[in-house]
Amino acid sequence: MTRSITKLLVLGGTTEGYDLTEALYEAGGFRTITSLAGRTRRPRRPAGELRVGGFGGARGLAAFLDERRIAAVINATHPFAAAMGRNAAAACREVGVPLLRLERPAWRPGPGDRWLEFGEWAEAAQLIADGARRVLLAIGRQELDAFAALDHVWFLIRSVEAPDPMPPFRQAELLLARGPFDLAGERALLAERQIDTIVCRNSGGAATEAKLVAARELGLRVVMKRRPTGPQVPTVSSVPEALHWLSAL
Ligand code: NAP
Repeated sequence: MTRSITKLLVLGGTTEGYDLTEALYEAGGFRTITSLAGRTRRPRRPAGELRVGGFGGARGLAAFLDERRIAAVINATHPFAAAMGRNAAAACREVGVPLLRLERPAWRPGPGDRWLEFGEWAEAAQLIADGARRVLLAIGRQELDAFAALDHVWFLIRSVEAPDPMPPFRQAELLLARGPFDLAGERALLAERQIDTIVCRNSGGAATEAKLVAARELGLRVVMKRRPTGPQVPTVSSVPEALHWLSAL
């Protein structure tokens, strides 16, 4: 007897996306197509098929699901990839394909943390203007503009690739680095550069969490961007839970 193969689309670009396709490959019974936006020049290859580039909005994605006879979609994109989440929900609704959101848990403040949470970048800039002097910006290249006019603040801008163009910061150092970052390194960096405030997004996950532990130890403020709220779809936070959901298809 031959087992039927379930064809899945995994919207990836995250560790969870890679881990899921590996687990599905090992489990057997699934054929996966991983989709990446194409932001990274040389991305890691997932198990199964890979396609790269946007679909052309929700309509383009709906057409893709139809054409490729996809049985279910797992949106494993980054917690801040809000547009892709909206498009996936609209497209799956349109063509009647089940959708699961796989999203890593958010970080939560604990005893000793000095977090200030915000929704819009302009709010973060205001929080920085009120009392910060030496700031680590651990945020995306596209989000730097909101801080560039704060002439009295010194910024350490940590980024995987250099911002192009670089916003007109008066006092800034650019540090090109890619996670994961360990606790000893984060402690040393924050101490050496005499950082008093960190600005970051609530990405969750272990790879970039050490800066929060170091900030707690050193008593630094953390200005933390809240996650966007996505569409109401079934959501899990781990690969085993995703496999469980898929087993019930
Ligand atoms: P976004 O704002 O939600 O998406 C913008 C557009 O990029 C989407 O409308 C879609 O274009 C395309 N897109 C996004 N993810 C895609 C995917 N997996 N496959 C095909 N097309 C995709 O997303 P973003 O914040 O720019 O992030 C882009 C990708 O980078 C995501 O896959 C995400 O997992 C990864 N990533 C993002 C972050 C972050 O901080 N946002 C961090 C690490 C990794 P069309 O409308 O043309 O389909």
